[in-house]
Amino acid sequence: MDVKSKMESLRELLNEWGHLYYVMDAPTAADYEYDQKLRELEQMEAEHPEWITPDSPTQRVGGKAVASFQPVQHPVPLQSLQDVFDPAELTAFDRRIRETVGAVEYVIEPKVDGLSVALEYLDGVFVRGATRGDGSVGEDVTENLRTVRSIPMKLHNAPHRLVVRGECYMSRNVFQQLNEERTLKDEPLLANPRNAAAGSLRQLDPKIAAQRRLDCIIFNIQLSDGDPFGTDAEQLDYLEQLCFRVIPHPVFGTLDQVQEEINRLGENRYQYPYEMDGAVAKVNRIALREQFGSTAKFPRWAVAWKYPPEQKLAKVLDIAVQVGRTGVLTPKVVTEPVRLAGTTVTNATLHNQDFISEKDVRIGDTVLIQKAGEIIPQVVSVDHAKRPDGTVPYRLPEHCPVCGAPVARDPDGVALRCTGAECPAQLMRNLVHFASRDCMDIEGLGPAVVRALVEKGLIQTPGDLYDLKVAEVAQLERMGEKSAQNLIAAIEKSKGSSLARLINAFGIRQVGTKAAQVLAKQFRTLDALIETKEETLTEVPDIGAITARCLTEWFQNPQAQHLIQKLREAGVNFESYQQEAGSKFAGMTFVLTGTLEQMTRNQAKTSIEENGGKVSGSVSKKTTYVVAGEAAGSKLAKAEELGIPVLSEDEFLTLLEF
Ligand code: AMP
Repeated sequence: MDVKSKMESLRELLNEWGHLYYVMDAPTAADYEYDQKLRELEQMEAEHPEWITPDSPTQRVGGKAVASFQPVQHPVPLQSLQDVFDPAELTAFDRRIRETVGAVEYVIEPKVDGLSVALEYLDGVFVRGATRGDGSVGEDVTENLRTVRSIPMKLHNAPHRLVVRGECYMSRNVFQQLNEERTLKDEPLLANPRNAAAGSLRQLDPKIAAQRRLDCIIFNIQLSDGDPFGTDAEQLDYLEQLCFRVIPHPVFGTLDQVQEEINRLGENRYQYPYEMDGAVAKVNRIALREQFGSTAKFPRWAVAWKYPPEQKLAKVLDIAVQVGRTGVLTPKVVTEPVRLAGTTVTNATLHNQDFISEKDVRIGDTVLIQKAGEIIPQVVSVDHAKRPDGTVPYRLPEHCPVCGAPVARDPDGVALRCTGAECPAQLMRNLVHFASRDCMDIEGLGPAVVRALVEKGLIQTPGDLYDLKVAEVAQLERMGEKSAQNLIAAIEKSKGSSLARLINAFGIRQVGTKAAQVLAKQFRTLDALIETKEETLTEVPDIGAITARCLTEWFQNPQAQHLIQKLREAGVNFESYQQEAGSKFAGMTFVLTGTLEQMTRNQAKTSIEENGGKVSGSVSKKTTYVVAGEAAGSKLAKAEELGIPVLSEDEFLTLLEF
């Protein structure tokens, strides 16, 4: 077989396996086998890039980022649905239908809580995908949709033009996994699967969308120049044959059956892989749909039954306080077990002291809880009639329940936070931060390794990193001698990090990259900074009263002092490498282009100006350096044309620091 045909048959095979895996949830090939074939295809494509086709599974990882989304006019509007909330409203809908047509059948579908998309195929090839937008005009998110594995890129025996509509969603499993990963990396959590799906689909960089592992379920043919269908059910069966994931679509003839199915779906709704916010009843016969037509917003032949969030009463056995990875104390009620929204719940969040005081939640109370939009159940209200005698108002502790350090209220908010620099509850997050790129930049010390080190008990504070031995690290799962050596070497190297990085690595409240740079430049040694009084700190440009307070409090904390002592003994650099402030870039002109990852353009500009340099908006012969971030445009081209040196962001940062 020649190479081109071989590539084609590999593509076909991988797409077929992909369909079984991602759409049918019935994998046949072993992951290993799939990966091997994929690798084989990748190698052939590397040798013959001219034969890469858009439907190749290698194209699912996300192509080039775009600057903005183009508008797309939908050939058939993506309409909304009329809501019904109770049996009377459903009966009225059914009556209107039957008065006109007599006998009727309905399909009952889950109302998937994601976001609506239209997918267009020409001669079976996926050419465009758009969001719903206002229903008439949406946004072109084709590149992001290409990364959605359950959307076929190529259809066999499809009509010349086909536009289908479906719901893009993030499955509960993926949502949970992503949030677990985010917790570990101390990134803000995704609030709920719907927002997560919407946010992912509107990422300008498809590579990010690819990581979100979205799914898509189809519920309608918007437009087709193939043979028409008699019923919705037939149309969906056909789409299933074309390899789409399609919505479940049982058909019922009487109102009682319809109501029963809606109730059944409602009861089972937490067993589905996607979030369901209702059930949709649609007239099954397409000709009847055409007869009923639509209002300006809704079809007259369908309604959406909305399910309210489930609420339950639960008895408060205790109020527990958790210390999060950022040190925030979060109170929650511990309740008797209650079944709620598909899971057994034994606690619900109380957010903070203000919330507790406002609702006056007490141990012994009976509270109403629900899961609405968010994953963690919330306390809705207290049933005061059920309050037993002898309860007392609740107040959060003044010391961290984990490490005993004093608790302080955030100067700019309502959260109470543990002030311990070595608090075990915050250890993983602190270590990940300590090792991160803007801090000590320890290569290979990501969240997974940090977790392994902490779980093995090898590290109690970031200072312990410098005591690690190769043999200890090599014992960790999936580590091995070589990686262990590399990690220890990277840790060793980090001892020479700049003072600014070290200050940033402490993770002091209010002190990020920028403030750390300012402080390093101003005080030149860590000891000078430690000795500086709060009043003096506030005189430093860009250091406000709150930051000054956070700094002095932190340095006075015994745990922080212990950490600093450990780092000192380890030989970590405590001094600034920077030259005298204000002179380094004297007489130089910089042009910034593209998106910087580690700082905003403004931060880059400020740091150039602070060092005596100038920033200009356009490249000329007088330009000293062009700093090019991601997706740099015409300025980069101009620099190359004029032979002006171009710096990457990392090179620029190095220049700035040394
Ligand atoms: P609403 O957003 O409340 O107006 O409800 C209409 C939306 O429900 C549509 O835009 C679709 O995105 C969504 N939807 C989810 N599942 C279905 C379904 N099975 N049939 C029709 N629409 C659905």
